[in-house]
Amino acid sequence: MKKATVVGAGLVGSLWSVYLAKRGYNVDIFEARPDMRDASLSAGRSINLALSDRGWKALEKVGLGDQIREVAIPMYRRVMHAMDGSLTYQPYGKENQAIWSVSRGGLNRVLMDLAEREGNVKINFEHKCKSVDLEKGSATFTNRNTGEQVVSDNGLLFGTDGAFSAVRKAMQRTDRFNYEQEYIEHGYKELSIHPNEDGTHKLEKNALHIWPRGEFMLIALPNMDGSFTCTLFHPYGGEQGFDALDNDEKVRNFFKSTFPDAYELMPNLMEDWHENPTSSLVIIRCFPWSKNGKVALLGDASHAIVPFYGQGMNAGFEDCTIFEKFLAETNEDWDKAMKLYEEERKPNGDAIADLAMQNFVEMRDLTGDPKFLLRKKIEGKFSTLHPEKWLPLYSMVTFSHIPYAEANAEGKRQAAIMEQVMAMPNIEEKWDSNEVMELMNKLS
Ligand code: FAD
Repeated sequence: MKKATVVGAGLVGSLWSVYLAKRGYNVDIFEARPDMRDASLSAGRSINLALSDRGWKALEKVGLGDQIREVAIPMYRRVMHAMDGSLTYQPYGKENQAIWSVSRGGLNRVLMDLAEREGNVKINFEHKCKSVDLEKGSATFTNRNTGEQVVSDNGLLFGTDGAFSAVRKAMQRTDRFNYEQEYIEHGYKELSIHPNEDGTHKLEKNALHIWPRGEFMLIALPNMDGSFTCTLFHPYGGEQGFDALDNDEKVRNFFKSTFPDAYELMPNLMEDWHENPTSSLVIIRCFPWSKNGKVALLGDASHAIVPFYGQGMNAGFEDCTIFEKFLAETNEDWDKAMKLYEEERKPNGDAIADLAMQNFVEMRDLTGDPKFLLRKKIEGKFSTLHPEKWLPLYSMVTFSHIPYAEANAEGKRQAAIMEQVMAMPNIEEKWDSNEVMELMNKLS
């Protein structure tokens, strides 16, 4: 009988278990937290995520596309909110291209349901991984209620237990394992904008809203119930950093003066502020991602990145797609498939980690800059005229399956070209002229 153990029933672990089950494996999942589908547990705050093409592809493969689309909201453009309340718009891609706002909890529940429906997957909740045997591909878990120790000895073990993975921790103690962890200056806090009384959204529904403010930003993604989940990405230190915002008056004044239009829509600001934690953001890189052809890492356990490209989960889902491809190609030779998987994915994990930091600067600072918006318009026009020559970086990352590392390299080449184009005299007036398009054609 084919058997596997999966540590962590988060987004990636649940999906990967479905893939394994479809290959005929009996899968034992161990998840530290209680079952989030248990109605007696509080529903908690709604937190959403942006799902894009790489994520969709992995979901379509297990037949989930339509079901998720029904509870997802397409966001066709960014709406930037200036200090004076004026709005500017930037489409994400071509007409009808969108990133999709989905409930993190909702998606995780559907994936767990699907895994269990396969018939050969069992999720053991409230079982925390305590130790791992990398030679055997087994792990020991503690039942959080009874303290009982359970050993899962299936000979194949997958660490999908997130950024602070216990499976990875065991690998970290082995020779020649590289590991790097970096907390960025910024943390985040989730806030909300409640729906209108009739259940409609208080801001444009089919958009991702950004209040770019240089060193920091507020963003808002729509939920199905008419609310928005807002996230303040903000430095801990500095005169107005999280640490300095240490009483209600300071928080209110900060919002009133920095995000006046959002503040008007957030009568519940202080309640959210106190209820929701301030959380840190970490980047984790490591290698290898597998051991002995028996243990492998997927998702945040192997590549935790900052959330500014909306790609963490998408990249984790793409891990499943790629791993599955190599399993098929090697006829399920796990040793070979694990090596091929980590060799292909590692440079791409590194690339999306870099791109995500780069996009933070773009979102918090550049989206408020007219020159940047003009550059995007020029690229957009050229790309429409010559799609074979130019796919904007954002589209390569979000609306394609081009490996992240290739997208990153192509993005650098494009940036160098755009520097020359933006240096043309009077570019503001003639941005869509033949002269500009011809120069782009020549350079690209
Ligand atoms: P996780 O979601 O962390 O799941 C790990 C699971 O393992 C959890 O259920 C945990 O309880 C369990 N676990 C942990 N340790 C143990 C243990 N010792 N034993 C047993 N179980 C254990 N990504 C996007 O694609 N789009 C976005 O818009 C986006 N927005 C984000 C916004 C924010 C603020 C943040 C912080 C992240 C965002 N991400 C986004 C990234 C995304 O959340 C992660 O990439 C994704 O959740 C990774 O999934 P995972 O299954 O690998 O890990």
